[in-house]
Amino acid sequence: MSVATAKILDGKALAQKIQHNLKAQIQALQETIGRSPGLAVLMVGDNPASAAYVRNKEKACTQVGITSFGRHFPDHASQAELSSVIQELNQDNRVDGILVQLPLPKHLDAVALLHEIKPNKDADGLHPTNLGKLVRGESGLRSCTPAGVMELLKEYNISVQGKHAVVVGRSILVGKPLALMLLEENATVTVAHSRTVDLGSITRQADILIPAVGKPNLITKEMVKPSAVVIDVGINRVVDQFTPKGRLVGDVAFDEVAQVAEYITPVPGGVGPMTVAMLLQNTVWSYQNSEMA
Ligand code: NAD
Repeated sequence: MSVATAKILDGKALAQKIQHNLKAQIQALQETIGRSPGLAVLMVGDNPASAAYVRNKEKACTQVGITSFGRHFPDHASQAELSSVIQELNQDNRVDGILVQLPLPKHLDAVALLHEIKPNKDADGLHPTNLGKLVRGESGLRSCTPAGVMELLKEYNISVQGKHAVVVGRSILVGKPLALMLLEENATVTVAHSRTVDLGSITRQADILIPAVGKPNLITKEMVKPSAVVIDVGINRVVDQFTPKGRLVGDVAFDEVAQVAEYITPVPGGVGPMTVAMLLQNTVWSYQNSEMA
């Protein structure tokens, strides 16, 4: 039987380190600014996965000293109601970051709500102004999951420059901004997606392979170049006879890919905690800049 040889990229440990540093940074800034930073997470309905994500974010806020201004709306909340709360939070000087937890019930227009968030309070970094700044290479709020991937690479001194990075998935949440961030660090970037023909022939060329699809076991050992760096963004809940309540897995067949890759992220404990850490970092960035405005 082969054994795993890949080194683990420990997102959980790095997220804790970042949060520890943010806590110290907030303590130092609080005296001058005269208040703590604030983050408002808006949630609609009772989707259990979303509720768990929101709880995680709010718990992390408490740990670092960010005040939560979260609001929980019933399933039938209207677009106008959410829109007016966003306007209110845009004006509230205690609030540095606003985000709408997705997915929303079908009758609500998530993109329209995102457009209403003040760009300098866009903690998720998904407002067109912030995505535009990313395209232009200007500083601004960066989308959390791709920023988390880039931080992980940096922490483990994995140089991106000149490497062939293959991102699988082209969503506005992960794939597209991640491709731009890799490009900014001088990688040669390929973006594969659902219409890509012969995915394996593309992924096998990757020095750095980053699947962000949402399909368990999409990436098998045969699709990975030996000694590649594999960062698994996917989060999937699988239910089988051993885990009737379900367990989380990524897009990568971890056990077999760990036999060929040089580095690999676990799921859970890889990119997921980094996303939360980047959300807090974005909030603190806005907090700091609010004082300079
Ligand atoms: P999405 O559904 O918006 O996008 C999925 C992408 O995968 C699409 O661009 C599609 O073209 C591509 N795709 C679908 N089937 C494919 C196939 N067979 N081959 C190649 N490409 C294919 O999803 P998303 O919001 O980008 O999320 C992707 C995954 O990442 C999900 O599992 C999600 O739960 C996870 N995610 C994790 C974090 C985190 O913090 N770790 C954050 C966001 C999303």
